[in-house]
Amino acid sequence: MSVEADITQWIQRLSDADLPWRPSSPDLRTQLIQSLKRPIDKGIVMLSGPEEGPGWFAQRVEDHRVDFETGLSLLQRLVSAEYTTVDSRMIDRLGGYPVREPSLLVSRLLDRRLKYGRSPVEVGVLWVDALTVIHLGQLSRGQPVTHLPVVIDDHIRKQRFRLEVGVNETVEGVIRQVGIDPAQISHCTQGPALQKRVIDLKRPICHSELWFHVWPCRSPGNVRSCTRCGECVSICPVGLHPAGLLESASNHDSIMAEQFYLQSCIECGLCEAVCPSELPLLEAIRGLKRLTE
Ligand code: SF4
Ligand code: SF4
Repeated sequence: MSVEADITQWIQRLSDADLPWRPSSPDLRTQLIQSLKRPIDKGIVMLSGPEEGPGWFAQRVEDHRVDFETGLSLLQRLVSAEYTTVDSRMIDRLGGYPVREPSLLVSRLLDRRLKYGRSPVEVGVLWVDALTVIHLGQLSRGQPVTHLPVVIDDHIRKQRFRLEVGVNETVEGVIRQVGIDPAQISHCTQGPALQKRVIDLKRPICHSELWFHVWPCRSPGNVRSCTRCGECVSICPVGLHPAGLLESASNHDSIMAEQFYLQSCIECGLCEAVCPSELPLLEAIRGLKRLTE
C-alpha cells in the first residue's frame, strides 16, 4: 500500500474512532489531511502532561510503553519526518510558561514562525502529545480509547483531584464526581489557570483540555487604571506591549491594535497575572481579536 493510501485509510479510522484531541495537542486527523498537501519534515511529541509539573505523561508512556512505541512507529510510517520528544526539562530550558502553546514552542525549538491558533502543519511540523501517540497505538492494536486522565483544581476548597473518566463524560459530570455542585461555582476554565479559558460545562472531555479549574463566585472589585508600570511588557513571552493593547481595546481601535501586533498574542495570561492594577488584559485582547475577525 502507498503511504498516501495508508494515510487516507488512517484518516478514516481516526474519524470513525473519534480520537480525543485538545487545543494543546491539535487534532491528528486534521493534521494528516493537511499533510497530504503540505510536506512535513519535523514531528514533535509532547511528553509533558497538561498540568504544571513534570511526570504525568512521561509516567503514562512508561505504563503504556508498547502502545506508545506502536503509535510512534505508525506515525513515522505515515509521516516521514525527524521526530523530537519534548519533555519538562527541555521546556524549563525554554523559559517555562506557557510551554505547551504550539506557536511558542515551534518558534523556540525550530525557529519557525507559527501564528497563534494555526495548524503546525503550515510550517512543516506535525504536533502530537504522548497521550495521542498512545491512543494511536491502542487503535492500531484494535483497542478502543475509553478513558482519559484528568486533573481538577478546585479553587474553592483548594484541592487537586486526579481521576480517570469516560471519554464521553461531560465537564459537568466530571466536576460532580469530585463533589462540586456546578450551581455553586462561578465558572470552570481549562488548561493553565492564567489563560482563563472558560469551558462550557456541557462539553465532552474528549474534545477539551484534561486540566480544569473550578472557580468560586466573587464580588466585583474596584475598577483601577493603568499606571504604566511596564510589568506586563517585561513579562510578555512574545515581546508585546499588553498595556498598548488594553488602550486599543478601550478606544475600540483595531488599527492601533494591529500596530501593537495583536495577532501575535498567544493568550497566555501572564500580563494579566502580573498587573498590579488587576486590569482585565486578556478579556480586552480577546475582545480586540473578535473585533478584527
Ligand atoms: S496574553 Fe499578555 S503576556 Fe501573553 S502573549 Fe498576550 S500580551 Fe503577551
Ligand atoms: S502591568 Fe497593568 S498597570 Fe502596569 S503597564 Fe501593564 S496594564 Fe498598566
